[in-house]
Amino acid sequence: MEKIIFATGNEHKMVEIRMILEDLGMEILSQKEAGIKADVVEDGTSFEENALIKATEIAKVAADMPGYRNTVILADDSGLEIDYLNKEPGIYSARYMGEDTSYDIKNQTLIDRLDGVPDEQRTARFVCAIAAAFPDGSSEVVRGTMEGIIGYEIKGENGFGYDPIFFLPEYGCTSAQLSPEKKNELSHRGEGLRKMRVILEKKLESEK
Ligand code: IMP
Repeated sequence: MEKIIFATGNEHKMVEIRMILEDLGMEILSQKEAGIKADVVEDGTSFEENALIKATEIAKVAADMPGYRNTVILADDSGLEIDYLNKEPGIYSARYMGEDTSYDIKNQTLIDRLDGVPDEQRTARFVCAIAAAFPDGSSEVVRGTMEGIIGYEIKGENGFGYDPIFFLPEYGCTSAQLSPEKKNELSHRGEGLRKMRVILEKKLESEK
């Protein structure tokens, strides 16, 4: 395995991915940099299924492209689970209230839906599944999580999406108030990527 293609167009994710995987000695490309165009329908029923669907579909396309035959395809699927709302928005986090609705509106709506709910019932977590499709046809999937509670107001300018309502009691702030470095250290995506790194290391070792 010489190359990694990460199935995302999101530059923020690529920065995080490169930071965690760069010293594996493999070339790391985004799907866009690899020139792979594919509209994958994420119709799985879990984060893991969706990540695997993305990775295996992109792997099928890459297998027909010279230069990408010895390449591992990584893909992720992530979202926010709020326990009091039966784990909503879950796998529909990006689509919750419609893709075009602003996060200010989505976040305020979630706060309103928890009106009067005490701290101990406001538990929530960010989840990130990372899947790998290997050139030998095998695949692996791992999960990273970050636990917190839904806050009472929108707070913080860093991060994206639901970060301004995701309160971390241990740190006394939302994940939108953490520095990018600290968020990477604590985040569901960081944890998932570090687990995937161990799998990649073993795979590389077995090829020697
Ligand atoms: P996707 O994995 O890129 O499809 O992201 C799913 C959605 O989950 C995002 O659009 C956000 O709404 C939410 N999400 C995932 N990770 C985070 C995070 O670290 N902070 C805030 N929102 C997130």
